Amino acid sequence: MRIGALEAGGTKMVCAVGDETGMIFERTRIPTTMPEETLNALVEWFQDKEIEALGIGCFGPVDLRRSSKTYGCITTTPKPGWAWCDMVGTFRRALGVSVGFDTDVNASVLGEVRFGQGRGLSTVLYLTVGTGIGLGVYLNGALHHGIVHPEAGHVLLSLHPEEHWTCRCPYHPNCLEGLACGPAIEERWGARAEALAQRRKVWEMEAYYIAQALVDYICILAPEKIILGGGVMRQRQLFPLIRSEVRRMMGGYLAAEELNDLDTYIVPESLNGDQGILGSLCLGAAEWAREHGGREA
Ligand code: ADP
Ligand code: ZN
Repeated sequence: MRIGALEAGGTKMVCAVGDETGMIFERTRIPTTMPEETLNALVEWFQDKEIEALGIGCFGPVDLRRSSKTYGCITTTPKPGWAWCDMVGTFRRALGVSVGFDTDVNASVLGEVRFGQGRGLSTVLYLTVGTGIGLGVYLNGALHHGIVHPEAGHVLLSLHPEEHWTCRCPYHPNCLEGLACGPAIEERWGARAEALAQRRKVWEMEAYYIAQALVDYICILAPEKIILGGGVMRQRQLFPLIRSEVRRMMGGYLAAEELNDLDTYIVPESLNGDQGILGSLCLGAAEWAREHGGREA
């Protein structure tokens, strides 16, 4: 089956056509400007591709409650023009195909579960550390949603003993995203994160914050694996620092075989940045199956 995939981001839209086996036939990128212009360009790209379904992994917050009047919309984003933008409705009307919809991070965790590090597992987390921080939650074999999708980038943390900067989140004085996203690193240290590779203190503090959040996620959700992606995680020296902080902060409390080998438990994304687009393909296929009486994938 030919399926469209859209990874909808705040700066760019990544589009692809592929199939349910994870083959990608063609792809393109379209900059995210104002909704009308961007959505028109996306519809134009997809409309002659002979797709039977489209899957969208979208920046949030988004409405994922099927019973809601605003299901399929981006909700309260501060991004100009995009609040209450009807993503599912727009593509359904324009393309006349099944449209699967979830958060960008849930699409990423699904991509890793189907094609990457999460294969064969039933509870997997995907944390992206980039412009923002978000967590995709695959729980007991399904993407997790509750009253909203998880907003685990905003878990509250203890400040590092040497913290000298202010959390940049407008809602919380001490949340993970406000303390550890790429722009927070840049503000605290006065240079883009990419340029700070040699400054050990930067990455020790970053690992201290990320590890606290991971310990909370582990204690609450007991995942079988945690996958870390996003621009900031390209600093590979973060991995051993995060693992050793997780080990220290856990204090040996949880007895699970997986926690004895953190090298295979806390791992980098494995699909060369394609986890979101591959997961979006799966979202499209799942929605098609749902609407055609098949089993939800
Ligand atoms: P987005 O979150 O916007 O989709 P990214 O995941 O690339 O995009 O995140 C962008 C953030 O990641 C920026 O704050 C940037 O400074 C940071 N970043 C990108 N590449 C690197 C790198 N190699 N090392 C450290 N930080 C990086
Ligand atoms: Zn916050």
